Amino acid sequence: MADAVATVDAPPGFGGEGFFTTKMSDVVGLARKNSLWPLPFATSCCGIEFMATMASHYDLSRFGSERVGFSPRQCDLLMVMGTISKKMGPVLRQVYLQMAEPRWVIAVGACASSGGIFDTYSVLQGIDQVIPVDVYVPGCPPRPEAIIDGFMRIQDLVGQESVRRRNGEQYKALLNSYGIQ
Ligand code: SF4
Repeated sequence: MADAVATVDAPPGFGGEGFFTTKMSDVVGLARKNSLWPLPFATSCCGIEFMATMASHYDLSRFGSERVGFSPRQCDLLMVMGTISKKMGPVLRQVYLQMAEPRWVIAVGACASSGGIFDTYSVLQGIDQVIPVDVYVPGCPPRPEAIIDGFMRIQDLVGQESVRRRNGEQYKALLNSYGIQ
């Protein structure tokens, strides 16, 4: 009697022995999501949690993001951490505008997300008043685990994003709503 041969459905992407098929946008997404270069815009206490997130114990470099940059032109992930005053708003916006597309933004902590405890005349009540935000991380301050969770949500967005979304009408309309051409 012939040996029974187990048959298994080929996983998505495999088109037979020795072949792997996928879409260009998936390859680009895989590369982008695992090589995000963060630009930390840290003004106060949440920035300390970012330092812990980058250090050896939590080690964000495991996600391909050890290359922290302070030049907007060479970064694609703006991480805003801390209380942003209204006077700082235009500076933050300018930094965002200096980043090349594609670019993503995380608001880390209550202050960056909504002004936090500083419900006062001088503090921006959320950075989304001046730039578009992709992910909000709650907490005052958020622990490094929460920052990593927010980072992984950005990775999900980046991995699934069409390479053409950034030229799409919806995205242009979003930027226009912020007065960005
Ligand atoms: Fe500081 Fe809390 Fe504001 Fe973070 S959210 S900058 S910990 S006050």
